Amino acid sequence: MGLVDYHVHTARCGHAVGEVGEYLRQAEKVGLKELGFADHLPLYFLPPEERDPGLAMPQAQLGDYVREITGLKGKSVVEVKLGIEADYVPGWEEELRKLLSAHPFDYVLGSIHFLDGWGFDNPAEIEGYRGKDLDLLYEQYFSLLQRLASSQLFDVVAHPDLIKKFGFLPSRDLKPLYQETVKIIAAADLAVEVNTAGLRHPVKEIYPAAEFLFLCRRYRVPVTLGSDAHRPEDVGRDFDRALELLREAGYCEVAVFTARKRRSHRLPI
Ligand code: ZN
Ligand code: FE
Ligand code: FE
Ligand code: ZN
Repeated sequence: MGLVDYHVHTARCGHAVGEVGEYLRQAEKVGLKELGFADHLPLYFLPPEERDPGLAMPQAQLGDYVREITGLKGKSVVEVKLGIEADYVPGWEEELRKLLSAHPFDYVLGSIHFLDGWGFDNPAEIEGYRGKDLDLLYEQYFSLLQRLASSQLFDVVAHPDLIKKFGFLPSRDLKPLYQETVKIIAAADLAVEVNTAGLRHPVKEIYPAAEFLFLCRRYRVPVTLGSDAHRPEDVGRDFDRALELLREAGYCEVAVFTARKRRSHRLPI
């Protein structure tokens, strides 16, 4: 299919299954051009004893992860990229910068999975939505996403509207919030990820929403493509739907990265 998948996990993160070789085999099977591993960076913003081994690899495994993925390069017709999915937590920018600069990543996905310590995308913490003012929650989420975008730590904004995952949707018009956010992403020269995992969760929608992606196109924000696979069979999953959305938004290229330098790759549209 000539596409790229820049967001897959491995068993190292504690909540995915499958070894790197199995993800690569699947990428070959579906005919990807590039496969980017973007496993969860260790939870650097928590003291080691408070890091849930079911959420991200332990710090001691980061070097092995880097070596394992780097060792796959050049061994397949699919080009392998070394990515990482890093949480943005305000106040921890310098620690993150140090950690990222210690490894030869091809790209860094910036994610928000925590709001004031609440893991809002974790099924085990879903009761946290109860009684929340969803309009305020979305404002809080997007203002943190704007800080992520301005931090100059990342190459790509991962699953930009992850807060919708469980289908708790606000009543307010989100367009002004989207617009403010997309302008900041454009000014920071980041790419935005089109992530099909949302289709497999209660919201049943790609991240980001079409309206958000249309704004990205208007502000000339490049896009990457990711399945967020946590099992090998999800590599490249629902990319036909992602292509359809990209086409609707007017995109004809996706961004690819090598050593944190961005280029663009023509989409089969
Ligand atoms: Zn995960
Ligand atoms: Fe994520
Ligand atoms: Fe992920
Ligand atoms: Zn993710």
